[in-house]
Amino acid sequence: MSQLPEVAANPYGAELAAAKKAVALAARLCQRVQRGILQSDVQSKADRTPVTVADYGSQVLISLVLKKELPSESFSMVAEEDSKDLRKDDAQEILEHITSLVNETIVNDGSYNMSLSKEDVLAAIDGGNSEGGPSGRHWILDPIDGTKGFIRGDQYAIALGLLDEGRVVLGLLGCPNLPLKSTNMHNGSSSGDQVGSLFFATIGCGARVEALEGSEPQKISMCSIKNPADASFFESFEASHSKRDLTSSIAEKLGVQAPPVRMDSQAKYGALARGDGAIYLRIPHEGYIETVWDNAAGSIVVTEAGGMVKDASGNDLDFSKGRYLDRDRGIIATNKYLMPMVLKAVQEAIKEEQ
Ligand code: AMP
Ligand code: MG
Repeated sequence: MSQLPEVAANPYGAELAAAKKAVALAARLCQRVQRGILQSDVQSKADRTPVTVADYGSQVLISLVLKKELPSESFSMVAEEDSKDLRKDDAQEILEHITSLVNETIVNDGSYNMSLSKEDVLAAIDGGNSEGGPSGRHWILDPIDGTKGFIRGDQYAIALGLLDEGRVVLGLLGCPNLPLKSTNMHNGSSSGDQVGSLFFATIGCGARVEALEGSEPQKISMCSIKNPADASFFESFEASHSKRDLTSSIAEKLGVQAPPVRMDSQAKYGALARGDGAIYLRIPHEGYIETVWDNAAGSIVVTEAGGMVKDASGNDLDFSKGRYLDRDRGIIATNKYLMPMVLKAVQEAIKEEQ
């Protein structure tokens, strides 16, 4: 089979092709679990956030596919889940369930001839325990970003990025519940029927979207709105993830007319990158520190679509510090015209709050 043009001309083409396979396979497992999710599929982690069999299964499949497809590259992955809770005595049933989900997904796909034991599953999950950092290459994975949305039956994303010498160079967002066609009325396109979007971007090569099931990739770009009164903004669906008093005061300062578009996960970065909205405000409550896997893939999709992603002080995000971003005060993504105005409004609103 001949190589896709985007792969041939791209310095990270091999990694992109492997990552697409990995995300597509993980998405199949997630879709199957979401369709019939049971209470017993959901567990609570030490930090009291939920995790499901699909979070673990997705992490296993992605780690396996990346290793299979890129056998000559050393493997390091910074991923959200670890196997600690699954190694407890009372977790044997759930571990068996994850193992059969993973094996059934592999058999149904037909690309790989392998069958995993429970130990293999635990080891593959722990393949994601890297600390990342400024040197070398590290995959950055949120196997299900927006687990709360996933459990509710709403939006979620399989978010996979690649860090190379401290820079995010590749990012993919598999969004199984996001319509493929833009929902933006400004650019004249209307919403179609096809659901399931895969956004991907490599540094210097632009951002694209294709159907999660596979289709011709389409180049995407941010909206070019210059007047904030015409803009709409995204924020978290979960009220506990975002300071809504602050985001509404920011919107008021900007003269934004439209109500906020609330959506789970980094699907927001994808929707923003193709112009479904103009601004994404992520202003967590005091003390919350952002993880790299919640923003790496999304941020390169936005910057490669011509957008900007900054913290509340106007600095670029630094993904080279390990598992966490070292800022705790908000992330703003928008186009280059609106960024100065949005930053000013964010800083004023934060100052007034103090
Ligand atoms: P979103 O749907 O955009 O709010 O993003 C979902 C992600 O928010 C989850 O994957 C969590 O890692 C992260 N998260 C969890 N708790 C919080 C919190 N208190 N504030 C902000 N983000 C959070
Ligand atoms: Mg997440």
